[in-house]
Amino acid sequence: MSGLGRIRHPRKVPNPSILLISENHGDILETQFARYAREYDVRVADSLMAAYLQAREVHEAGGQMALFVTESVLPHATVFDAVAKMRTVVPTARRVVVAHWERFRQDADQLRHGLSTGKYDAYLLMPRGVRDEEFHTAIVEMLNDWNATVATPEVEAVRIIAPEHTPLTLAIHDYLDRIGSPSGIHPPESEVGQEVLARYTGEPDRWPVVETYNREPQVPTSVRDVAMTIYGRPDDIDVEQVVDLAIVGAGPAGLAASVYAASEGLSTVAIESEAIGGQAGTSSMIRNYLGFPRGISGMRLAQRARNQAIRFGTRFFTGWPVTGVTVGADGQPHRVHTEGGDVVARSVLIASGVDYRRLGVDSLEELIGRGVHYGAAMTAAREMEGQDVLVVGGGNSAGQAAVHLSRFARSVTILVRRRSLAETMSAYLIKEIEYNPRIEVRTCGQVVDGGGEASLEWVELEDVETQERERREVRGLFLLLGAEPRCDWLPEQIALDERGFVLTGRDVPADRWNDGVPPPDLCTTVPGIFAAGDIRSGSMKRVASATGEGANAVSLVHDHLAPEQT
Ligand SMILES: Cc1cc2nc3c(=O)[nH]c(=O)nc-3n(C[C@H](O)[C@H](O)[C@H](O)COP(=O)(O)OP(=O)(O)OC[C@H]3O[C@@H](n4cnc5c(N)ncnc54)[C@H](O)[C@@H]3O)c2cc1C
Repeated sequence: MSGLGRIRHPRKVPNPSILLISENHGDILETQFARYAREYDVRVADSLMAAYLQAREVHEAGGQMALFVTESVLPHATVFDAVAKMRTVVPTARRVVVAHWERFRQDADQLRHGLSTGKYDAYLLMPRGVRDEEFHTAIVEMLNDWNATVATPEVEAVRIIAPEHTPLTLAIHDYLDRIGSPSGIHPPESEVGQEVLARYTGEPDRWPVVETYNREPQVPTSVRDVAMTIYGRPDDIDVEQVVDLAIVGAGPAGLAASVYAASEGLSTVAIESEAIGGQAGTSSMIRNYLGFPRGISGMRLAQRARNQAIRFGTRFFTGWPVTGVTVGADGQPHRVHTEGGDVVARSVLIASGVDYRRLGVDSLEELIGRGVHYGAAMTAAREMEGQDVLVVGGGNSAGQAAVHLSRFARSVTILVRRRSLAETMSAYLIKEIEYNPRIEVRTCGQVVDGGGEASLEWVELEDVETQERERREVRGLFLLLGAEPRCDWLPEQIALDERGFVLTGRDVPADRWNDGVPPPDLCTTVPGIFAAGDIRSGSMKRVASATGEGANAVSLVHDHLAPEQT
């Protein structure tokens, strides 16, 4: 987004706080955190009780706590008591435990266990001197993560003016969040609202009015209109131009292919129907991706990959679902269709992932975007402050969503049809959920009804064993019901398995092999069309495997484009 104007937010908000708790080494921590004092309100407490009072003071004054850092040994309390207690006052703050170097070995086992079960976000060794940049990298990562998922941006690249939070307004806000564009929603009569409306030349006959990067405000009718202002349309590409690789879907698989293809000199276009990042972009914390020991939010991972791909020259179009592909005859390029124009490409990578399974309760489908959300809906999570919410699903994505929501909501109930989470969720997440006082698990249940006036107010649950029904007042319903492939747009020449996933390599039916030889891995039944990530039959459904396959597909693209050189 470099070079694009940013708008300073006129609102004066107190600096977010960083609270340091240490009885004997507060001076070391205070010195280390002096570098943050310009932009954060750095406070020191010498006991848990003093820290608790300070946190309440911040909270009651309307301030926000970004981070609290506690020494591993405290007077009259264990570190586990400390993180649990602080969670009750400032649940959104990131939590760091710092061990004094004399205690590091002694405490390591117990503290590592606390970390692996999600009691805190990082466990660090207290710096021994100045410029311990490893320590500060960890701190800055925590603050960055807090800022991306919790804080209201103080500098806005996009301003949305709307009298109420309609589904379109929220969808635009969510899209902007997912692409990493800080934005805010302002009422028309507010100071910012008046300022933007004064620059709008038409008479707004509907909302929202959106001002993107200091450009002329517009009245979009869809998220795509906003996406188009930022990324353009596929037919911006000269129709005569044939690109080397068109990638369908910019989740981890498509992003990895974008980075590797463009870095190896292939002209590359990535077409994405929603926001860059795919399912991974909706994950609040990916803990198992190589090279990120403290985890990384899917949104940040996607933004970094996008920037890397753009730097190498990939052209992205977002907000444009690919509606079909016309296979080129006799080795001619393929034509990828969107409503915004076609892209002609020598090779195509199908990286369109999977889509959430639907709940199938009509009254709730009507409330999508108004309290009902498919997926973890990172932006909507912020709006659940102080509310009771329900997460439906028993997989890791549901567990992660519940943990993230518990930072904001008063209570989170995970609803599953099975008798326990054990078969479907990783043990570390189950432990984290057990430890979290705001999360409750309701087994043997399903949602059968729900409703509300302007937004969700209630749901009806049914016990799958006794058929007993119960009505619950909830303001948020997050549906993580597993996923199905997205392939209705694929040409019939592409072979699919019985569930609709794309067949590649040896899995392709033998009658489609060439002279008894199966296509190489990741190659589909059509030469020059490849598949990677969750959409591929037999894929592992992980970020790392999707990125690995996306990167791998690029070498096959080279083979296809220049077979004589390989
Ligand atoms: C909440 C959540 C948490 C998760 N946490 C983890 C984790 O911690 N660790 C882990 O390893 N995995 C995790 N996963 C799984 C991981 O995110 C997926 O395995 C991974 O994202 C798959 O990548 P992909 O690129 O194949 O597909 P996706 O991420 O699904 O991306 C596909 C993209 O294609 C786009 N698309 C679809 N159809 C079209 C079309 N016709 N035209 C244009 N674009 C299209 C979609 O909008 C999407 O952006 C999580 C998943 C979820 C939902």
